[in-house]
Amino acid sequence: MTVSGARGSPAWAAEELAGPELGVARASRAQAVVDLGAIRENVRRLRAVTGVDVMAVVKADGYGHGLLPAARAAVRGGASWLGVAFVEEALALRMAGIDVPILCLLAAPGERFAEAIAADVDLAVSAEWALSEVCRAATTAGRTARIHLEVDTGLSRGGATPAEWPDLLAATAQARAAGLVEVVGIWSHLVHGDNPEHADTTVQVERFDEALAVAERFGIRPAVRHLANSGGALLAPRTRYDLVRPGIAVYGLSPAPALVSAGELGLRPAMHLRAQVALVKELPAGEGISYGHRYRTLRPTRVALIPLGYADGIPRQATNVAPVWFPAVGRRTISGTVCMDQFVVDVGPDAPVAAGDDVVIFGPGDDGEPTADEWASAVGTISYEIVSRIGARVPRVYRDDDTAG
Ligand SMILES: *Cc1c(COP(=O)(O)O)cnc(C)c1O
Repeated sequence: MTVSGARGSPAWAAEELAGPELGVARASRAQAVVDLGAIRENVRRLRAVTGVDVMAVVKADGYGHGLLPAARAAVRGGASWLGVAFVEEALALRMAGIDVPILCLLAAPGERFAEAIAADVDLAVSAEWALSEVCRAATTAGRTARIHLEVDTGLSRGGATPAEWPDLLAATAQARAAGLVEVVGIWSHLVHGDNPEHADTTVQVERFDEALAVAERFGIRPAVRHLANSGGALLAPRTRYDLVRPGIAVYGLSPAPALVSAGELGLRPAMHLRAQVALVKELPAGEGISYGHRYRTLRPTRVALIPLGYADGIPRQATNVAPVWFPAVGRRTISGTVCMDQFVVDVGPDAPVAAGDDVVIFGPGDDGEPTADEWASAVGTISYEIVSRIGARVPRVYRDDDTAG
């Protein structure tokens, strides 16, 4: 019986794991090991490269890495702002004692704006309904709301269209005169974060500058103008303005994998998804594997059962295409249909793989294991979806052994 780690001590060996959240650690059927030092260094890198303030985006549980640990590591790396999608995420950060400025990027009617204002959380406003609700909430909270007006420069998602912009500004100027709001920022969002030198970016920058000029005519001159996500921040300097809003790069993944790798950008992937082999068995040639027999053995072989499935965020589209890595044999491809809780890998005849061995789904790539970018490419999606969908059933384990404090 092979003991995990007996073939050398991989970086993620259990004894090296440390940190306050380690309490969850059962023997480790499956874990997402999150390297907080990597998050910190990635933010430091973003600050150095852009030369402007960094709002680390930690929405969606820190892209699956854990809201609070990711936020704290980003702040330690020099993020002077945090960005979230929704009010609840911002309130969780405040309740944990995080006191940097926080911006909620998205809202729907009925949002807990009064609580957000009372907790000193900045709110994005892209329509007059939101402005009215924020003003009512400011009255309830008994303090001025800090808002960032969003203008749509071409994404056609959030934000006021150029046609709606003057009316939103006029209403905002009135609310400001009444002491209900302070306009801290004006912002927009890029269409081509994965290719920011696209010609559309030029149009967006022009429309953004025009929107700022129109705001100025209403006497609105915000402290922070912001447009860039990770791709803009790293690859399109003219989109940086006063503040950049990187998300994926904070977690060490490339915003533009078709153009440039994470390593080339000086980023280090922070998440290492690993599991324990649950079972190994011998199968004869011609045997079908998993639901629908979408894989068939070509020769007598050994197969390993991995206790992670689509309920844990392993895409079902990974069936027969996505790579995993075994310390003893290197890379293998998933064999047959990914199930809800498990999948099977044909590791090959005589492969020295046993129940209890480690298997790496993705990681930084140091030992030859696949990266989340490779997984994304194998299953036809983006790395954002790979990491942010790792399920609640997979414990996050934090390590922070980076030497740079
Ligand atoms: C998610 C998000 C970001 C971060 O984008 P990345 O591509 O992950 O850097 C920035 N701004 C807004 C408005 C977002 O929704």
